[in-house]
Amino acid sequence: MKAPASQTPYQAQLLSRLRCLLLDVDGTIVRGSDATPGAGEFFSVLQRTGRSFLVVTNNNSISLAQHSQRLIDAGLDIQPQNILSSAEVAADFLKAQWHIHSVMVLGARALRETLSANGLNLTDENPDCVVVGFDTELCYERLKKACFIIEQGSRWLATHPDVAMPGSDGFWPDCGAITAAISITTGREPDIVLGKPSRYMAQTAITRSGFSPDQIMMVGDRPETDVLLAKQNGLAAALVLTGACDRDQAGTSGADIVLDDLGQLAQLLLAHNGDKP
Ligand SMILES: [Mg+2]
Repeated sequence: MKAPASQTPYQAQLLSRLRCLLLDVDGTIVRGSDATPGAGEFFSVLQRTGRSFLVVTNNNSISLAQHSQRLIDAGLDIQPQNILSSAEVAADFLKAQWHIHSVMVLGARALRETLSANGLNLTDENPDCVVVGFDTELCYERLKKACFIIEQGSRWLATHPDVAMPGSDGFWPDCGAITAAISITTGREPDIVLGKPSRYMAQTAITRSGFSPDQIMMVGDRPETDVLLAKQNGLAAALVLTGACDRDQAGTSGADIVLDDLGQLAQLLLAHNGDKP
């Protein structure tokens, strides 16, 4: 076990009041097919100290069940009900904010099924709006059709901003890359971009957690999504150095706490468990 890093009084107080942790996936709890250092210990400390968690991911190319299985295969017992993806946030947004009934979806089966299960009609003919996700089944004819619909004035939504997904064989074009192709073609930016760091993703996660923002910390490896989501929505932010960010970049990230890995966070949570009700 690693010794806890030294903390300021502010950090100690912040850790003591934490009741829920929002967790990024890649670079934070897993790296490729393996759990990150200390991740197993971290989840056991959450359980021992009565803290809850919600995994928060922008990746909507696979279902919650598939996300769960990937994490279980990495040795982390995380069930689908403990995961929130940008697909669920998009479904909520379309219904509650835009009052949308029909959508053309450029997205993988998991996104299409989530939207359909939430009562949205999936159609390529006169949809109320176009939804663009991480479309791992992208088809040129449908990309072209989506551009035509958007050029004619339809609203359109991107489920998250990420342009590249780090795969085991290199970077994959993600939602942001497909969104960019449509924007360049049509001359129109999406009307809204959800996922991290949007406030809709944060609000959905906060509501699901059942805790107030001052009791929640976002833990991730990217300043531009994970830390920004926290800072824009009144949450504490921890940056782990097991993914996209090195210690030099972490210094200007705005995170409240910078940690080598989740094992170090586990030790801090054990040491600061003072406000447990
Ligand atoms: Mg990440």
